[in-house]
Amino acid sequence: MAGSRDVSTIRLKADSKRGTSEDAQHKNILAAKAVAEAVRTTLGPKGIDKMLVDTLGDVVVTNDGITILNEMDIEHPAARMVVEVAKAQEDEIGDGTTTVVIIAGKLLEKAETLLDQDVHPSVIVQGYKQAAARAQEVLSAMAIDVSGDESALLKIAQTAMREKGREIAMDKLASISVEAARAVAGFECKDIEKNIKTVLIPGGKIEDSFINYGIVVERERASLEMPKKIENARIMLLEGTLELKKLDTDAKVTIIDSKNFPTFEEGEEEVIRSQVDAIVSSGANVVFCEKGIGVTAQNYLANRGIVAARRVKREDLEMLALATGARLMGDVMVVTSNDLGSAALVEERKVGKDKHMIFVEGYEKAKAVSIILHGVSDQFLEEMERALNDSLNVVLDVIRSGKIVPGGGASEIFVAENLRQYASTLNGQEQLTVHAFADAVESIPLTLAENSGFDPMDSLAALRAKSAQGMKNFGLDIDSGQPADMLVQGVIESLKVKTHTIKSATEAATMVLRVNDVIASKREEIEPEQHSKRMSREIGGKEPLPGDAVQDPK
Ligand code: ADP
Ligand code: MG
Repeated sequence: MAGSRDVSTIRLKADSKRGTSEDAQHKNILAAKAVAEAVRTTLGPKGIDKMLVDTLGDVVVTNDGITILNEMDIEHPAARMVVEVAKAQEDEIGDGTTTVVIIAGKLLEKAETLLDQDVHPSVIVQGYKQAAARAQEVLSAMAIDVSGDESALLKIAQTAMREKGREIAMDKLASISVEAARAVAGFECKDIEKNIKTVLIPGGKIEDSFINYGIVVERERASLEMPKKIENARIMLLEGTLELKKLDTDAKVTIIDSKNFPTFEEGEEEVIRSQVDAIVSSGANVVFCEKGIGVTAQNYLANRGIVAARRVKREDLEMLALATGARLMGDVMVVTSNDLGSAALVEERKVGKDKHMIFVEGYEKAKAVSIILHGVSDQFLEEMERALNDSLNVVLDVIRSGKIVPGGGASEIFVAENLRQYASTLNGQEQLTVHAFADAVESIPLTLAENSGFDPMDSLAALRAKSAQGMKNFGLDIDSGQPADMLVQGVIESLKVKTHTIKSATEAATMVLRVNDVIASKREEIEPEQHSKRMSREIGGKEPLPGDAVQDPK
């Protein structure tokens, strides 16, 4: 394997300066490949969990590639490039991150072989881009339209969730995620987290999880004296506090007569009273407050029949603002009825064994839903939440686009096959590069087979044979290691995830390859020794540049 060979076997070209540069490239590639190695074993439903322990001893158990990358302390700039691209994939698409990193790693491994064969990096970059464009065309052409097919959405959700070992949970979660995605699909929502909220309740069965077509605020009402339920709610969202002592108040207590001189506390009580009066005159009957609500304020509010919750999370306030049309206010004294939002119902309900939460339902400004997840432990819940997030994004995309491709490595096999045919129409170096790209794409079915406990080369050969017969929907059956029709098995993925995966992996690999281009192009302006020092800095070497280019290091 190229990765384990001795550095000294790198063949240097006539120009010795290139030697250092190649060495740098080799190190970059090695670092990027190490990232791929770290997540490789988590790919697919049979991927194994990793336990991550941070310096404080906090433990995360996950099989989610991006979580592992987030938790890892990666310093090498080339490795970081790959991680950044994977993160972008997670942010924009929400799934396929492990695939991106694995393909990128393989593209770089293959590039290394090409470099050894004297193919220039820019030729490789060009060839990879060409192959990527072709791969995306092939994917689009093989995509299947499933618009209006409800069961396809469930399958999409399940494939994205990949947690085979938790099948019961997966069925439940898949249907919840389809429901939730449906609820917000008709609306413009770029960042799904702003429209779909997950509430984690440790200590229950996952089957008890449910979707609420409302916003669930994980707070109880501030006082038991407040009403539990309000219909036709007029909602005030407050960034400040309603609390004694902590006021940095604008309101003034004017002392006219020493006889009426109030004690300090009475004065503050007066302020609280006027604040509650302001709330009442705005017409609000529900208050969500980002900070504290003191006992005095609680009493006044309860007396006026107002429900209030304190220490409400910022994200919740923002979601409430979006959905109910309320404005986030800093100063309660200036709130008018125009600043309030509306909802048909605000009600405190019991969730799980002993928790109480406030449900806000029936608003019109935007679609927002909550998913209440029950699970045995925090760790289990967090992993479920990650799985759910992956599937929500993908399901939402398929509801909108209707386009899917077969999973289990089927699309990769088909793309690779097509690329090899395409390569045969190209000349020497381009042909090599497109071939390398095809091999890299095939690392997905290969890794799936390996992670499922089968001989990867045997599985790959069987898959290729099917594909060569034109059976483009055949992917890996992870229970037998044999090819199977993925549409029949219900293993399908969103077209967008797949095309974007190719795009991201190519981007990551070419970025790493280009670093060397940049260094090489500077060669002429920089003295040899300085050149190597600058380069070592650019690729993350510890050695500092002595001054700037003006200073001679010798
Ligand atoms: P990523 O972070 O890239 O999404 P995953 O660990 O989610 O990585 O694995 C995704 C891969 O697993 C995809 O190639 C998908 O087709 C495959 N996969 C998911 N479920 C199955 C299944 N039941 N059988 C075969 N392959 C599956
Ligand atoms: Mg996935």
